[in-house]
Amino acid sequence: MQFTVAIDGPAAAGKGTIARGLAETFGFAHLDTGLLYRAVGRRMLDGTPPEIAAATLRLRDIARPDLRTPEVSDASSQVAAIAEVRNALVHFQRDFAGRDGGAVLDGRDIGTVICPDAHVKLFVSATPEVRAYRRWLELTDAGHEISEADVLADVLARDKRDSEREDAPLKPAADAVMFDTSRMTIDEALEQAASLVRTQLEARR
Ligand code: C5P
Repeated sequence: MQFTVAIDGPAAAGKGTIARGLAETFGFAHLDTGLLYRAVGRRMLDGTPPEIAAATLRLRDIARPDLRTPEVSDASSQVAAIAEVRNALVHFQRDFAGRDGGAVLDGRDIGTVICPDAHVKLFVSATPEVRAYRRWLELTDAGHEISEADVLADVLARDKRDSEREDAPLKPAADAVMFDTSRMTIDEALEQAASLVRTQLEARR
């Protein structure tokens, strides 16, 4: 059975948490597509031109433990604005989406560009302050010393770059279900997302 769930939205809105939860609940495979851009950004910081890094990306590159730093976040949104980089990553993402047994992909352009025919499309957002606070908690938990104000500035800069780029900008698909997680607990967000998936799965039986 092919079944694709597309989850898009700005940085730290809760996409990853919802995507992982749905994958676990329904036994779907999960791809965090931000990791692809982070891996290309990481390799650019290490000296490889981004177009070449994208064309030669290996699975081990996205398993690196150093992809979640603020420096890599910034580099990833710079390389994500390069059309050659995005084009080089399309095939891998579509292959993943089409795998048997169901797939959840989260990113910025999954419902609009990568999987326009996805069975369920969610656009997950939250206020910039809530998102910055969540990302700041994650970063400080992981041992990074950074102020909440700096995280907010990074989140806003990435949102702006991701929304204003010409190629595959961050925006909801016309048929996406909008999901504001600012005042939701993780369990509430997961339950609502799971119920949308359940409805679509039942409709296909
Ligand atoms: O989701 P995450 O914050 O890890 O993504 C890092 C960066 O990768 C984003 O800021 C965005 O520029 C880029 N990205 C993208 N398209 C995707 C996923 C991520 O442009 N599908």
